[in-house]
Amino acid sequence: MTRKYMIAGNWKMNPAGDPLPLLKSMRDSLSGIEGVDLLIAPPFTGIHFAVYTLKDSGILVAGQNLFWEEKGAYTGEISATQLTAAGVTHVIIGHSERRQYFGETDETVNKRVKAALKHGLIPIICIGETERERDQGITAEVIARQFKGALSGISAEDVEGMLIAYEPVWAIGTGKVAQPSDAQEVHLQIRNLLKEKYSTDFAGRIRILYGGSVKPDNAEGLFVQPDIDGALVGGASLTAESFAGIVRAALKLVQ
Ligand code: PEP
Repeated sequence: MTRKYMIAGNWKMNPAGDPLPLLKSMRDSLSGIEGVDLLIAPPFTGIHFAVYTLKDSGILVAGQNLFWEEKGAYTGEISATQLTAAGVTHVIIGHSERRQYFGETDETVNKRVKAALKHGLIPIICIGETERERDQGITAEVIARQFKGALSGISAEDVEGMLIAYEPVWAIGTGKVAQPSDAQEVHLQIRNLLKEKYSTDFAGRIRILYGGSVKPDNAEGLFVQPDIDGALVGGASLTAESFAGIVRAALKLVQ
């Protein structure tokens, strides 16, 4: 099966002000690209701008999080139905910054994944070990626990099309990208977990993204790995130039 890379930009709480200039430069640099799927996850206040600015560009728009209830007295939260009504197709769930600073657990990640699926949003589920866990030699254990927790009680039919992002916490925003062979080892483990839980066919269709200090100059080395199907990009998605550099690295491998 030919793989189609996905390059996804997670803007986190950026830019500090108006998102329009960045959205427009993304649209101008990346409209109509074929062969690679592109996605941007702006902050919630930028979603409407993103959906309208990127309409017809082929660039998808994602939320960075959601709450599992549909509506009600949950100050500061956003629901799956609100995201879909705003024109969003995907949602990032379980990012390590959410786990680290906002108390997300495997259990709450699972509830969010179920809420996303119930309302037709495609989840991008983030998993990854901390530096301490890697040093302790328990990376595989942590990955298996987070994977099983996130997908508990979810069938293959429900989750068709989902993406998993392997994001070693120590590589996020640090400039310390994982060695491609180390990243590949964890991606293969995730592929095998997908095979065990679902099926070989299903596992082959699910894209596993790498995230953690991906830049134009290290992207190709990651993308040539057999189980790395694209990237979730933080810092380098904040200029059209660096994001386009990563996209070009993927395009080079499919053209
Ligand atoms: C991220 O936050 O998902 C991420 C990968 O960030 P960065 O690319 O900045 O390391």
